[in-house]
Amino acid sequence: MQRRPLLAGNWKMHTTIAEAEKLAAAILQSPIPTDRDVMLAPPFTALNAVSRTLSGSSVILGAQNVCWEVKGAFTGEISPPMLKDAGCSMVIIGHSERRHIFAENDEMINKRVNGALHHGLIPVLCIGETLDERQADQTFKVLEKQLRNGLNGISLENGEQLIVAYEPVWAIGTGKTATVEQAQEVHLFLRDLLAVIYEKNIASQIRILYGGSVTPDNVDELMSQNDVDGALVGGAALKAESFNLIINFKK
Ligand code: PEP
Repeated sequence: MQRRPLLAGNWKMHTTIAEAEKLAAAILQSPIPTDRDVMLAPPFTALNAVSRTLSGSSVILGAQNVCWEVKGAFTGEISPPMLKDAGCSMVIIGHSERRHIFAENDEMINKRVNGALHHGLIPVLCIGETLDERQADQTFKVLEKQLRNGLNGISLENGEQLIVAYEPVWAIGTGKTATVEQAQEVHLFLRDLLAVIYEKNIASQIRILYGGSVTPDNVDELMSQNDVDGALVGGAALKAESFNLIINFKK
């Protein structure tokens, strides 16, 4: 099964509106190969402006989180229709910073995934083990729990409706990358698990991204792995020069 590579930039809590527009415009300066998808996830405040900058291009706009409710007394939250209104078609959910700094749990993340799908947004469900969990040989157990709980009760018509991002917590923003063997081993495990949760055909369509200190120097090797379908990039997505090199990874 040929899955279209996806290179996604998570800008986290960086960029003013003007900086975001400038970064998005700089990324559009180099042509994007037609055989891959690119997604940018600026902060909420810059979504609308970046949407305007990206209009007419193939670049997809994503958000960094979403509420499961449509509207109401949910101070600080943004709803799926609001994200669609701002031009988004994807949304990152369950990022390790949400889980670890803001105490989001699997149940909340599951509701967010459900809300996103219900409104036609493609969730990028992030899962990953901590260093302690890896060292205690708990990696697969932790990932299975996060994936099963995150997708609890969620049905899919096809695998293109969902994206999974494997982001080992110990590799995010640390400069430590999983080896390509570690990444492929986990991605294959996740794909097999997705085939159990859904069915083989659907699992073979679901894109599984790797995230954790992806740079222009390691992206080619990571992307050479059978089950690595793309990258979720933090630090290296904040400079057009490095993100463009990542977008142009060599097969
Ligand atoms: C991320 O924010 O999802 C991430 C992987 O960050 P970094 O690339 O900086 O490790």
